[in-house]
Amino acid sequence: MDRDAVVVGGGLAGTLAVGALLGQVDRVTLVERDRFPVGPEGRKGVPQGRHLHVFLSGGQRALDELLPGVGAELAAAGAHRLEMPRDILTRMPGGWQRRFHEGRHALVSCTRPLLDHVVRARVLAEAAESGTRLEIVEGAEVTGLLGDPDLVTGVRIQDRGRAGAGARELNAALVVDASGRGSRAPEWLEGLGRAAPREEVVDAGLAYVTRMFRLAEPPDAGVYIMPGPGVPRGGVAVPVEDGRWLVTLSGGRGEEPPTGDGEFLDFAASLVHPYLYELIKTAEPVSGVHGYRNTANRRRHYDAPGGVPEGFVAIADAACAFNPVYGQGMTVAVLSGLALRDHLAGGGLRPGLAAAVQGAAARAADTAWLTATAADRPFAAAGAISLGFVDRLKSRYFSRLTARVAVDPKVGAAYRDLVSLTVPLSRLLHPAIVARVLLLPRRPGLADPPLEVGPGPRGH
Ligand SMILES: Cc1cc2nc3c(=O)[nH]c(=O)nc-3n(C[C@H](O)[C@H](O)[C@H](O)COP(=O)(O)OP(=O)(O)OC[C@H]3O[C@@H](n4cnc5c(N)ncnc54)[C@H](O)[C@@H]3O)c2cc1C
Repeated sequence: MDRDAVVVGGGLAGTLAVGALLGQVDRVTLVERDRFPVGPEGRKGVPQGRHLHVFLSGGQRALDELLPGVGAELAAAGAHRLEMPRDILTRMPGGWQRRFHEGRHALVSCTRPLLDHVVRARVLAEAAESGTRLEIVEGAEVTGLLGDPDLVTGVRIQDRGRAGAGARELNAALVVDASGRGSRAPEWLEGLGRAAPREEVVDAGLAYVTRMFRLAEPPDAGVYIMPGPGVPRGGVAVPVEDGRWLVTLSGGRGEEPPTGDGEFLDFAASLVHPYLYELIKTAEPVSGVHGYRNTANRRRHYDAPGGVPEGFVAIADAACAFNPVYGQGMTVAVLSGLALRDHLAGGGLRPGLAAAVQGAAARAADTAWLTATAADRPFAAAGAISLGFVDRLKSRYFSRLTARVAVDPKVGAAYRDLVSLTVPLSRLLHPAIVARVLLLPRRPGLADPPLEVGPGPRGH
């Protein structure tokens, strides 16, 4: 027990936490309330897995650091690589962005079940070679923590579907909560007599619907139509493995996309440009329409001084979940896994580890949090409270900036660095970028999607 760890939840973050713990503890027990599928299949505990999941280059780099070569394994399993801005036709609020080869950031695009499957298989293979014993408890749910307000010493678990039986305790020197957006750790901590962490919520009220298609004549690029002023509806279509395309449509409060089969195309037709609708109107649907509404940005400040007791860490969505439209959550999950690995490598299980990991995981989430909440705050506040002066200023700056991205390769490059989570938000406040955003006149992007790849920035 002195060198045992428990990981709560076997999603992406929990699987990577297991990987980070290998070689650092005697035994790691992964408790997952679902049963894992044998192949790349979805499961109930990860309902968002039916929706489009692109993986940003900041996350790809971190994942290759944690599990070297896994990017190539994903590609071999059929994941696509969509280089930005060449391989994604992007409609910014001010018009379409030019397509050219920049060679700095690519999105990895595959289904979430495939990504989870490849990562899980790899971590299981590493576990088999490691000195750490891995035990997987499936079909059981963590229901509470053991210990006292200052020290967590394990978890209480309950087999699912066996009410009144199957309850037991697992002792551990470290408990990692990776149970996702629905984590109940705040209540578990209260159960130990400790205050729940302060929570921040910025909810733009976005709703998602997703459907899988097979296209008769797939184009050579995905498409992303951003919502804009006046048309708060957006859509994305990307190729995934096995020749299929995932299409996600989204709308803010009052503009939620319907989940009926027939209405999917109607909603696609209502976007600011008909390109996506034209792409799928005669395509063969190969799934039903799936909806998702729990999309608020939600951050629990476990990183505040005294935020966690010894022996307890919360990572990824369990600590900080984002509006999914920015595609950041998996990247932050990987960065948290890296933070856990690095802190364990710096001295193993020890007093102070939990707070140090929590601080590093929070820093890993900062850029994503600041970006998502800056973009969402005006929608979150709409009609409810009015924005303060600073928020109005930020919002205006972001609106000018996104308008410039479509026409300005320098601003575009900085923006792509940021949205790929490879630089901090301050990159957009570099004087050269601020000057271009504030001083150059607004110019519209292209009126129609560029179907051909054009020359790079020097040709503009
Ligand atoms: C609609 C949608 C689209 C998204 N698109 C993107 C995208 O394009 N790109 C991107 O990077 N991110 C995207 N995300 C975010 C991404 O899904 C999450 O950030 C990511 O899944 C976080 O991983 P996690 O391991 O923390 O949580 P999860 O993947 O949610 O895993 C949590 C796991 O814990 C288990 N569990 C829960 N409670 C317990 C318990 N008490 N005991 C035992 N097990 C438990 C669950 O069964 C599950 O397996 C999207 C999210 C949504 C909702």
